[in-house]
Amino acid sequence: MHLLVTGGLGFIGCNFVKHVLSKDPEASIVNIDKIGLGANPENLRELEKKENYLFIKGDITNPKAMGKIISEVDAVVNFAAETHVDRSISDPSPFIKSNILGTFTLLEAVRKSKKDIKYLQVSTDEIYGDRLHGSSSELDRLSPSNPYSATKASADMLCLAYHRTYRLDVNITRCTNNFGPYQFPEKLIPKTIIRAFRNLPVPVYGAGANIRDWIYVLDHCEAISLVLGKGKPGEIYNISSGNEFPNITVVKEILKLLDKPEDMMELVEDRPGHDVRYSLDSSKIRSELGWKPSHTFISALRETVKWYIKNEAWWKPLATEKVLHPAPWKTG
Ligand code: NAD
Repeated sequence: MHLLVTGGLGFIGCNFVKHVLSKDPEASIVNIDKIGLGANPENLRELEKKENYLFIKGDITNPKAMGKIISEVDAVVNFAAETHVDRSISDPSPFIKSNILGTFTLLEAVRKSKKDIKYLQVSTDEIYGDRLHGSSSELDRLSPSNPYSATKASADMLCLAYHRTYRLDVNITRCTNNFGPYQFPEKLIPKTIIRAFRNLPVPVYGAGANIRDWIYVLDHCEAISLVLGKGKPGEIYNISSGNEFPNITVVKEILKLLDKPEDMMELVEDRPGHDVRYSLDSSKIRSELGWKPSHTFISALRETVKWYIKNEAWWKPLATEKVLHPAPWKTG
């Protein structure tokens, strides 16, 4: 399979590229990334000499470039997006451009190619909004709470419309919070590991009661591969591991793994619009495609902590004061 992966220099994209190439030596991948926030060329440096991998610096909102590349592939997996919720609060406009216009540009290129191309949109549980009880299924109403999730929801709507109107072979995957190697230090788990490792106070938003359902990034990559191969056209698949914990529990586990005291935690002002709980019902992908996570939360968290300790050279240049800030949406 000849794949276009967009946003492959980011956290999940780079794990996905490595995952596909290690499992399927016949696969070839073109990776388009604009090298924006979250991207790191070092993530896939080791692949640059391989014949079945090509990196092109480019923007998914560029119709000419996307048209040319898409005419040469069998499938597109769109990871490219502005993803930092805190930043979408201080400035939503790049989110509108990359997440909505970018998806539209890719869908148009697929439509105009007149080829039978599988298009997989990597979406998020955040589009369902808060879920105080129960779990969201693929049929639930979308209720995004911040500019990031609103743009992701808009992109999903475009994908479904392109399937219905133009019969494009589209799938949408909606996954819960990922963690694992190569995650940008601004996100909760790496930020906690790095700040604790440096003996800095560890910020926890509000009372730390917000609940997220955590999934190890490689379990997410495996689920995407499965949908790419077996997903039915036009279908949405929720992906979750069932690891629902309040943020404060996750922070305490990390401190324990690093052998640091709990009094390093510092409760800080909550971010505006902070969703209380997300929860996904992933029974569809489990029963229809036979997916299930292979990692437990604690074993994956231990691996992740170890990875960050071992790879200080990777995160050190990224871990600026702004990135590690306790309230990034205030930094502008
Ligand atoms: P990330 O921020 O680490 O990576 C995003 C990548 O997209 C970056 O490399 C960036 O340079 C690139 N990019 C952004 N705009 C672009 C554009 N216009 N053209 C080309 N490249 C562009 O994000 P991530 O955490 O790896 O998330 C990847 C995808 O998965 C996103 O679509 C996100 O919404 C989705 N997702 C993430 C999570 C999570 O927990 N991280 C959960 C569910 C879904």
